[in-house]
Amino acid sequence: MLYRKMPRIAEELSILGFGCMRLPTRNGEIDEPTAVRMMNIAIESGVNYIDTARPYHGGKSELFVGRALKGVRDKVQLATKLPSWLVKTREDLDFHLNEQLEQLQTDHIDFYLLHALSAGRWENLLKFGVMDFMEKARAAGKIRYICFSFHDGLETFKKIIDSYAWDMCQIQLNFLDDDYQAGVAGMKYAHGKGTGVVIMEPLKGGNISIPVPADLQNAAKAAEYQKPTLADLGLRWVWNHPEVGLLLSGMSAPEQMTQNIESAKKGLPETLTPKELDFVKAAKNLFVSRMKVPCTSCAYCKPCPQGVDIPQCFANLNNASISGNWEAQKTNYNYVLSGDRDGRRAGACVECGACEPKCPQHIPIREKLKEVAAAFETD
Ligand code: SF4
Ligand code: SF4
Repeated sequence: MLYRKMPRIAEELSILGFGCMRLPTRNGEIDEPTAVRMMNIAIESGVNYIDTARPYHGGKSELFVGRALKGVRDKVQLATKLPSWLVKTREDLDFHLNEQLEQLQTDHIDFYLLHALSAGRWENLLKFGVMDFMEKARAAGKIRYICFSFHDGLETFKKIIDSYAWDMCQIQLNFLDDDYQAGVAGMKYAHGKGTGVVIMEPLKGGNISIPVPADLQNAAKAAEYQKPTLADLGLRWVWNHPEVGLLLSGMSAPEQMTQNIESAKKGLPETLTPKELDFVKAAKNLFVSRMKVPCTSCAYCKPCPQGVDIPQCFANLNNASISGNWEAQKTNYNYVLSGDRDGRRAGACVECGACEPKCPQHIPIREKLKEVAAAFETD
């Protein structure tokens, strides 16, 4: 495992962090034996940064992490987040932090992030004296580093960065989203101000980790790229930036984890060759030309009152349009979203609109679900 150091952080952190947002599931619940096995593989391989948050897995991710870290808590840096959208009073701030400490079975959280800040949420939190709360929590030893995660435009990002000497910020970055939200420009800006940068969605919710498409075989050959999927390229593109402290991968299976750990062995800054960078460019062009929905599978839009599994619907649509294999995706879609499974298909949407304001990518979900239904729910 390789490690990097962020300016205001005392510890060296593994360049791969374990994001507990897409843990393996069984019958709609976290598949705990497999997830624990993944936690063990991660720690044994030198991963020392574990990330969770209140909404992940319907509130059960923090509870899982609390259990999984019993006996090994001191081997890792633990990150979780204040659910900024649920804060309506000053007391809410204390309530969430105290409950998180309890659920995580720890006396301190190393990295405490204001979760998914946007202009509106930041303004709202300021009304309740959020930075005073954070500093008092730090003075009391409940949290160690003061951080935020972000989903909004670059100007808002700069404003938030300028407002405080943040220890770390967490932003979305991948080779498809280099100029989206904070993007590369935001990453450089934060780094220039001494704020550490953690990357989320390095593979755009799995959209990048597809088998190397036929149209990219030549570029792959020129770059001497031997991996079966684009995941390695996507991760190494992120690590290629010296400003990046670490990236979080929301791994859902032990195999993904071992593959990512393998990639992390080569994650040194500024090591992608010109041919590999050309390969990234070709991949980006292909993706952009084929993607139907900029969904990152973050699941903030869930739960839908009708049970529509929105990210799954969009993943199938994008995978089909990127791979060109519509029949396989139709089969997968109807298998995953049918029978006794939890998720419903796009056709179950009644267009109530409840999901759309929750989407950080501002996707017109209702309209796009109609495309999904038209593609996969007709004979
Ligand atoms: S608009 Fe459709 S998908 Fe969105 S919450 Fe309502 S029913 Fe669910
Ligand atoms: S539709 Fe939006 S909120 Fe829902 S998973 Fe995709 S990006 Fe996230």
